[in-house]
Amino acid sequence: MSFDPKHWREANRRLAAAREEKTARHAALTRECYQKLPRLEQLDRAIQGTVAQAVAAALQHGSDPSAAVESARRENLALQQTRLELLRSAGIDPQTLEDAPLCPLCGDTGRHDGKPCSCVTGLCAEENLKELGRQLNLERLDFDRFQLRWYDAGVDPALGASHRSLMEAVAEVCRDYAETFPRCPAKNLYLYGGTGLGKTFLSACIAKAVAGQGYWTVYATAGDLVRQYEDVKFNRDGDGSGREDVRRYENCDLLVLDDLGSEMTTPFVQSALYQLLNQRLLAGRHMVISSNLDMDAVRGRYTPQVASRLEGEFQELPFFGRDIRLQQKEERQQRP
Ligand SMILES: [Zn+2]
Repeated sequence: MSFDPKHWREANRRLAAAREEKTARHAALTRECYQKLPRLEQLDRAIQGTVAQAVAAALQHGSDPSAAVESARRENLALQQTRLELLRSAGIDPQTLEDAPLCPLCGDTGRHDGKPCSCVTGLCAEENLKELGRQLNLERLDFDRFQLRWYDAGVDPALGASHRSLMEAVAEVCRDYAETFPRCPAKNLYLYGGTGLGKTFLSACIAKAVAGQGYWTVYATAGDLVRQYEDVKFNRDGDGSGREDVRRYENCDLLVLDDLGSEMTTPFVQSALYQLLNQRLLAGRHMVISSNLDMDAVRGRYTPQVASRLEGEFQELPFFGRDIRLQQKEERQQRP
């Protein structure tokens, strides 16, 4: 599992702000209680004193410190008990005065079991979804909203099956891919077929589901991706922010690349695309690509290196049917 440096920074900034707010709240509450119960403040000071005494005794050289440590410990316990009784008699729940960490798993250190704690990774996933939400209408994206009614139920003699049954199987592969990520049977999917058949919808559903599980997911249209590579090459990004964008495409856990073939395919684009594909494949990182091009068209458009990577390393998912947007328009026109 990797993290977008931008999401990581933002997650840690949010955690630090939440901790600061919690500390301030705790300090205000303590001050309020001290005003009501001056005796509580004296007791807290005395308790801190016994801790310091125990530490000082333990560090003393020469004599055996155990008796002094034990005496400080006993005094500490007695003071704690008096404090508890004072709070109870004032009707204050002792727990509200405890400065407990926000995350009991990592004690607000951000790491648990030698790995980033779920309090950080959960916020990273939130940031990832926020970012996808700026590109896609996330609310709409749900495998359950993929409507088979737009696909003909009659058997297509050329295929020996109906478009509906074939598309049901395609949707199932996509759902399965997202649900079993990153241990999905096929590492990479290639969704292809005519316009308006649901390729973008299903690939975006995968993006949302995988990002929701905490895997760093980047969605881009081929046109946007190519533009960013060109910006970096020709130094058009000015502040160098484009370089970070390009690295996201290379390093994310899942790259969803929409509408491959819609970009201007110059020699530079061919080489950038090959580098990206090759680098991700070598690193074992996942990709979902959608395109209007079948493999014959891919071979006609791209270099043999790009075509062979797509052919050899991706599970092909052909889409069938008639443009759904067109069918929806017809339906609207037929309404009285
Ligand atoms: Zn934590």
